[in-house]
Amino acid sequence: MTDVSASPLRLFNSLTRSLENFEPVHPGEARVYSCGPTVYNYPHIGNMRAYVFADTLGRTLSYKGYKLTHVINITDVGHLTDDADAGEDKLEKAAAEKAQSIWDIAKHYTEAYWADVKALNIRQPAHWSIATDYVPQMIEFARAIADKHCYELESGLYFDTTTVADYGRLARHGTDEGESRIDPVDGKRAPADFAIWRKTPAGETRQMEWDSPWGRGAPGWHLECSVMSEALLGFPFDIHTGGIDHREIHHPNEIAQNQAHSCSDASGARFWMHNNFLVERSGKMSKSSGEFLRVQLLIDKGYHPLAYRLMCLQAHYRSELEFSWDGLGAALTRLKRLVMAAAPVRDAEPAEPVDRRLTELLAKFDAAMSDDLNTPVALTLLEEAAAMKKIDAGQKRGALAVMDAVLGLDLLTIDRAALRVRPKAATITEEEIEAILTRRKEARAAKDFAASDALRDDLIAAGVEVMDGDPLGWDWRLEA
Ligand code: AMP
Ligand code: ZN
Repeated sequence: MTDVSASPLRLFNSLTRSLENFEPVHPGEARVYSCGPTVYNYPHIGNMRAYVFADTLGRTLSYKGYKLTHVINITDVGHLTDDADAGEDKLEKAAAEKAQSIWDIAKHYTEAYWADVKALNIRQPAHWSIATDYVPQMIEFARAIADKHCYELESGLYFDTTTVADYGRLARHGTDEGESRIDPVDGKRAPADFAIWRKTPAGETRQMEWDSPWGRGAPGWHLECSVMSEALLGFPFDIHTGGIDHREIHHPNEIAQNQAHSCSDASGARFWMHNNFLVERSGKMSKSSGEFLRVQLLIDKGYHPLAYRLMCLQAHYRSELEFSWDGLGAALTRLKRLVMAAAPVRDAEPAEPVDRRLTELLAKFDAAMSDDLNTPVALTLLEEAAAMKKIDAGQKRGALAVMDAVLGLDLLTIDRAALRVRPKAATITEEEIEAILTRRKEARAAKDFAASDALRDDLIAAGVEVMDGDPLGWDWRLEA
């Protein structure tokens, strides 16, 4: 019999810029830390690509038999408007603009992020670690490394990046690039040095501030991930994830802190993995310019959120992905096809897939996911399984369930009705549409084409696209 899970799991490690076999630190376990959102605004769909990726990685590790412990943090303090210690605290800034308590702002946007997590079928991690819950541990960590690795300026405590071996190895910065990086803080010894603790300027108060050996203030952004990953996953742990931008500043700084704290060259995680960006045709995705692409906007326009998940899976996580409404529409059609193809076996009693055609497909699926999460190929294999005819229904259902547990498209639970998301702007109801379509059918049967065309025009005027002869039998679609 074909061994359906024989491929060794290989993952691309940004540290070595190469594919490596995954060997866990603790046998049988996989411990993963993902840099979470900064909760001063809604996440855009680009941010959510980072969590679809981390979730797909986690699902793959579970599927490969590892006991997964996943941590995602919530950055509710310390991330400045610029990654390199310049600008204001993003949360303090949002609170000032909105004249609200910073704690309320963090809570509101954390909940909005969790709603997106749910909509995209991202599994709950074992821990959501909240940065402000760990400030005493951060101060302890800073105290432990302060003498040997830090220096104090009026504005705070800074990490001296020359005190650790090979600083920036993850980013592969040559010294030239390092020198040219912006250096907005007076008195820093080297441009790459970064804040461990930011003192509240004299005469000011911040909504979030704590006492420390370096005065009242707030922790630097990078500190939280070093502290929380070690507290929850141990040192070292298996995999640290984030968007590709984190490969340049945030993660090199976390690594430097980890080296200092462990008095070794250990980076803290065996694998550092980074997803590439979702971009718009006009360039970088942004929360402020143009149309703010949030998951909720996709839903408001009538797209099921899992169409966006599928869109993410259509690209390899290390490739840039360009967002377009047409692309999302195509992903929705693909999702509908999959759901319709899976529908006939949905209620079958699940059975172990032992049919050779299924075991061969499952082995290919295993090879694709084990090859650095090759989701584009895995998706086509899922489609092949869904389209299979003359096969035991229970076995087919069993095979689809195995694949869908990894890809997370909810194929066997969402149905036609759920996929018809009602655009927010729509005024006509589903019942009204169905009633008009019935009258139209009757008119056509009676060869009264004038009446049938008039009814169709009524529907178009109400924002309904009539899809005569749609191969999926979809019949109509409400346009946003
Ligand atoms: P932030 O809330 O800005 O800290 O970002 C949350 C996560 O989203 C981080 O892992 C970022 O690296 C990632 N990220 C930011 N922009 C994008 C994008 N356009 N595409 C994919 N990932 C992104
Ligand atoms: Zn982080």
